[in-house]
Amino acid sequence: MYQERFEELKHSGKLPSPSGVGMRILVLTQSDDFSMDDVVKTVQSDPALTGRVLKLATSVQMAGAVQVTTARDAAVRLGMRAVSNIALGFTLVSGNRTGKCEAFDYDRFWSESLATAVAAQVISSEMKLGAPPEAFTFGLLVGIGGLAFATVHPSSYDAILKAKAQNKKLDLATLEADEFYINHREVAAALLEEWGLPPYFSEVALCFDGRPLGTEFVHRETRDMLRILTAARMLADVCVSEKKLQPHMWPGLRRVCGELGASANEVCALFDRVALQWAEWGVMLNIPTNQVFTSRELENQSAALAPVLQRAEEAKEGLGKLRVLAVDDDPVSLRLLVTLLKRDGHDVLTARDGKEALAVYLEKGAQCVITDWMMPEMDGLMLCRQLRRTQEGRKLYLLILTGRTEEERIVEAFRAGVDDYIVKPFRPELLRARIQPALRVIQLQEDNDQQVREKERLNRQLDIEKRKFKAAAMTDALTELPNRRYAMKRLEKEWSNCQRAETSFSVVMLDIDHFKRVNDTWGHDVGDVVLKATARAIQSVLRRGDTCARIGGEEFLIICPNTSSVEGAMNVAERIRVAIEANRIDAGEFSGRVTASLGVGMLSKDTPSIDSILKMADEAVYVAKDEGRNRTVFGTPPKGGLKSA
Ligand code: GH3
Ligand code: MG
Ligand code: MG
Repeated sequence: MYQERFEELKHSGKLPSPSGVGMRILVLTQSDDFSMDDVVKTVQSDPALTGRVLKLATSVQMAGAVQVTTARDAAVRLGMRAVSNIALGFTLVSGNRTGKCEAFDYDRFWSESLATAVAAQVISSEMKLGAPPEAFTFGLLVGIGGLAFATVHPSSYDAILKAKAQNKKLDLATLEADEFYINHREVAAALLEEWGLPPYFSEVALCFDGRPLGTEFVHRETRDMLRILTAARMLADVCVSEKKLQPHMWPGLRRVCGELGASANEVCALFDRVALQWAEWGVMLNIPTNQVFTSRELENQSAALAPVLQRAEEAKEGLGKLRVLAVDDDPVSLRLLVTLLKRDGHDVLTARDGKEALAVYLEKGAQCVITDWMMPEMDGLMLCRQLRRTQEGRKLYLLILTGRTEEERIVEAFRAGVDDYIVKPFRPELLRARIQPALRVIQLQEDNDQQVREKERLNRQLDIEKRKFKAAAMTDALTELPNRRYAMKRLEKEWSNCQRAETSFSVVMLDIDHFKRVNDTWGHDVGDVVLKATARAIQSVLRRGDTCARIGGEEFLIICPNTSSVEGAMNVAERIRVAIEANRIDAGEFSGRVTASLGVGMLSKDTPSIDSILKMADEAVYVAKDEGRNRTVFGTPPKGGLKSA
């Protein structure tokens, strides 16, 4: 499905791709029997690349080793696979370092891809899982779909990335599919296929970061590579994150590497090796890399963080967080209220009377309002009434603080719209208890809103899918004309219209002459071009309201709803015949014209069915062929004769 969408992207001519040398090496190293000399020769064809390779080989210190002066020495010292990886990375990166998509961080993209590549290679070789050089290639390429969108559609992808940045809950692939009918995974899969990499590469790209590992895969290598990449991406995430965030991510990384069978010590060794190699590669490819803690430091810091993280977890599980507007004219009471609310983690806004509260609410919004009753300017009751009158205010959770004197009038407060009340002075636990229902109600509302939005999105998506499906099911892929299925449906409709209105319509059946010869002489591809060109020629002379469908190999049906005279129908058919005959087609070696034989059928009072009108036209085509082709014949109803034009 996505392949077609990919073709459209490809037509832009802007898709990222490793340049000549990288591409050749990429393809070369996928074959089973490539030799060191093949690789060396290819590398040498690019002087800049040769320079990089030599530099890397020289920087790999080896006691007693001979000096590296040629690409061949380098390949011996580094290994062929490493040289291939450099070639691929260098040529791909150098052509795609910057771009027009504002929200796409090209530096970070490459930095993270490189870290993923290095991590995948190290994990693969240390854990004896998959093939390390392939893991490197994957790490570098698996995220390429995002880069492709940024390059081909810089401004619409910019909007998508910004929407995602604003709302982390949105699914990037869904946003992409809504806009482009293809997502970054599918683009990556299609690109890898396009570059001639083995089919399992595409499967990995399609599933990475999306499908759970428990699912069935077509290729047996896929699962291991996905496991490697998942851990590698996590490791890369730690590397590219700000230093102060790194200790927070460490426990998660340790868990995932642990699942791959790495002991605590092995994870540490692995991490340090990746960080070091990442920095080295960064220098070599001129990609920025980050300051990274050592695994020892990360161990210590994350241990120190553990209680904090635990408390944060508990806080998340326990009380939720609300945006509360606290309103009281007495500064001491207000301060107490604010202190208690903040201690439980709520965001607090304040106001000193009803009027100010209303203004603050309208400007900044809140999920819950806790207000004193007796206040100057506007009291708590009036505030509640006013709030309930606003659109959003109906969803607010309203709590009112009452003194003894107001307690008798509590019914009035509920009538004004409060959800609950608290009698002053109150104990802190009581405030917390009274806020609990607010949390539940607001969470429910949000879940509900979210569900409604999700449902709307799904419905929209479904509508698009349905339309796409319908369009695809009714369209002939080669000529993009309506297909046979559409033609038959359309005929039924015309038929019932005519029954009702007692009117008539006609059809023209058309078959290209000696089309088999075109195929046999010039090949099927040329035949296809001829079909497309003929379809266009027919369409160019159709009137508004007429429809041409491709109903068979080289057979077309034209439905003419408003044509109820024999002359009219014959005119339409003749115009088409002449247009085809006059149409010069250039298709590779073939350059020339084709002709067609046409049969016209028309509905009359006595026509018993749609089939009979089609049969009428079909038989007329046979007569036209018999009489020498390139002509139009009007078919007459059964029993009658046929006359030729
Ligand atoms: P006639 O003048 O009697 O119609 O001769 P013809 O060769 O056109 O008739 P025939 O029906 O024997 O041949 C039709 C050919 O059309 C046979 C088939 O290979 C070819 N064909 C059918 N569909 C396609 C297609 O999608 N592409 C191409 N290139 N050829 C097709
Ligand atoms: Mg035919
Ligand atoms: Mg034919």
